Amino acid sequence: MPDPVRSITRRYPGVPTVEGAGVRLRRSFSHPEVPLFDPFLLLDRFGSTNPADYLAGFPWHPHRGIETVTYVLGGQVAHGDTLGNSGVIGPGDVQWMNAGSGIIHQEMPQRTEGRLEGFQLWVNRPAREKMSTPAYRGLTSAEFPTVELDGGARATVVAGRYRDVAGPVDGIPVDPLYLDVRIPPGGAFEHPTHPGYTVFAHAVEGDGSFAGTDAGRVGDGETVLFGDGDSVRAVAGPAGFRFLLVSGRPLHEPVAWYGPIVMNTRAELQTAMRELDRGEFVHHRRPIVEG
Ligand code: FE
Repeated sequence: MPDPVRSITRRYPGVPTVEGAGVRLRRSFSHPEVPLFDPFLLLDRFGSTNPADYLAGFPWHPHRGIETVTYVLGGQVAHGDTLGNSGVIGPGDVQWMNAGSGIIHQEMPQRTEGRLEGFQLWVNRPAREKMSTPAYRGLTSAEFPTVELDGGARATVVAGRYRDVAGPVDGIPVDPLYLDVRIPPGGAFEHPTHPGYTVFAHAVEGDGSFAGTDAGRVGDGETVLFGDGDSVRAVAGPAGFRFLLVSGRPLHEPVAWYGPIVMNTRAELQTAMRELDRGEFVHHRRPIVEG
């Protein structure tokens, strides 16, 4: 039997990384951690008050076999893709993109007064759905319900369900939960989790502790992976605690990963590379419209 309350099994402080055309970010987990976060592949946090750290952006690049989820907390990120989508997302907005059989897109942080801040999470797709038709969802902050709890805690629901409130993102194969949780100083939060699902949290601001133990103390942009259990419990420290809580159903499938393309076999990666070389990578295309 799993413990009823999940405890932390691993910690990731975030590794300074340069990505895209020269964006400085902190990488919480990625390729080396496969399969620990299954069905999640990568979590990056970008954030800086210095435009030189982010203006180079992520110019046109391909994806296949995964979903990329961008959550902006501050500043603005412009986007364009081979499905013809384009636009700018700002604080509280989310872009949930299923790359499916192949998409080429760009993600360009815009010069911001103050701090640019956000996250990108990669969600794996089951083998049978890796080559599905790509899809793009651009969601504004107003579309995400925020649930107020006794004691002042609040949870914004991006995907999945908090109590009886569902987020706007649904129909994702791995049944993801994506919450942005804010607990006032000394307050508490508890949420049931599916036994067997992968669950992790990322400390956005302040600090707190999970599972009611000193060993569960988390802050400073740390990401923690939980062991199995029926729920996650958090208590905020004296400055309050804001964290992302993410869970999903593991796929238990082989992972073949090359850069922005994640498939199941080497042969599938080679096919993707060949198609890129030949200009045949994008199977579903509408004209690119730059915003
Ligand atoms: Fe991308």
